[in-house]
Amino acid sequence: MTAPSPVPADQTAPVALAPAWADLAGQQAAVEQLSRAAAADRPTHAWLFTGPPGSGRSNAARAFAQALQCEVEDPERRGCGSCHACLTVAAGTHADVKVLATENVTYKIDEVRDLIALAQDRPTSGRWRIFIMEDADRMTERATNVLLKAIEEPPERTVWMLCAPSPADVLVTIRSRCRQVGLRIPAVRAVADLLVERDGLDPDLALFAARASQSHVGMARRLARDEGSRSRRESVVHLPLRVKATSDAVAMAKELVEVTQQEAASSAEVRNAEERRNLLRSLGLAEDEKVPAKLRHHVKRLEDAQTARNKRAVHDTLDRAMIDLTGLFRDVLALQLGTDAELVNEHLRDELASYARAASPERTVERIDAVSTARRRLAGNVPPLLALEAMATSFLPDRILDRRPPDHP
Ligand SMILES: [Zn+2]
Repeated sequence: MTAPSPVPADQTAPVALAPAWADLAGQQAAVEQLSRAAAADRPTHAWLFTGPPGSGRSNAARAFAQALQCEVEDPERRGCGSCHACLTVAAGTHADVKVLATENVTYKIDEVRDLIALAQDRPTSGRWRIFIMEDADRMTERATNVLLKAIEEPPERTVWMLCAPSPADVLVTIRSRCRQVGLRIPAVRAVADLLVERDGLDPDLALFAARASQSHVGMARRLARDEGSRSRRESVVHLPLRVKATSDAVAMAKELVEVTQQEAASSAEVRNAEERRNLLRSLGLAEDEKVPAKLRHHVKRLEDAQTARNKRAVHDTLDRAMIDLTGLFRDVLALQLGTDAELVNEHLRDELASYARAASPERTVERIDAVSTARRRLAGNVPPLLALEAMATSFLPDRILDRRPPDHP
């Protein structure tokens, strides 16, 4: 086996943008704003990234962090994707880039306090000390006030990056002190083009994946590349179509939990291996080389981070399945209302058309609501099986549902 070359072939090809931005399909305005800021001597110290789920707000924050820490000399090329700083930010192991994501419904005030204490330190190796806070909308008012103090009196080399669905989701006092970066859901076509041009994927497959993922770049890439992922998604979207009796609903909930657990495990496997490769490369080691004792703590730190992430991955995958189900029922609704919109599940058009004929649009709207309710309950740490069973009973055909008590909280 030959040692991997230090720079992958696709990064040597000339590209218009620094590689760090390459995943932000259809976000030209944000990329221009951020790459200009990264090229400046003193970027603003607080940023608010907003955009609907799947628009890539935390990816944008990470790309920006990469560009800020990048070691290349030419400011226009920051975010080169291959220097030590870029690789470690991408691998999640850069000592001066902390990403805070909460497992809980809201951030605990202590989590925010710990972060602020860390923010007082000077960067250890990077140019900036960067804090990325995912789901900044999940802060209690008390936690927000603690954070506000830190943002009002920023240590000299600290940069905050907060992510939230919309500017209205964070308190105005925070919002007014941040530069805002608005992301939007990219067009299906922009995502498909990215997969063809950057990943060399087949155009038809890329288009299917872009549609099915509802323009979520990471998910689209995964669907296009991994057949197992495609078949697990197929089984998720077919589940509601198979619910004919109460026992089916219970079985469906169980199967949904199992499929998403498999998907989370398989997805973590690929990502973990990739991070390990990136880390080894950044340490100057070949993939199959023994890690010297003095470098082992780097590997250990990565492994710990990966373990902590697994729990969250199961939750996120389940959430993704909820988005897939919402997309499915939106397709059904589009067919019932006779709009000529392109379907998320265009490949299931015939099947969905016959399903659509068997129910009313009102019933479909109720089912979309049931999926949203389940999604909210899952985020609130209700046991998955419980939340999903309640949802699945709303998929029962009308004649069965109507014999049941009307209320399933
Ligand atoms: Zn770089």
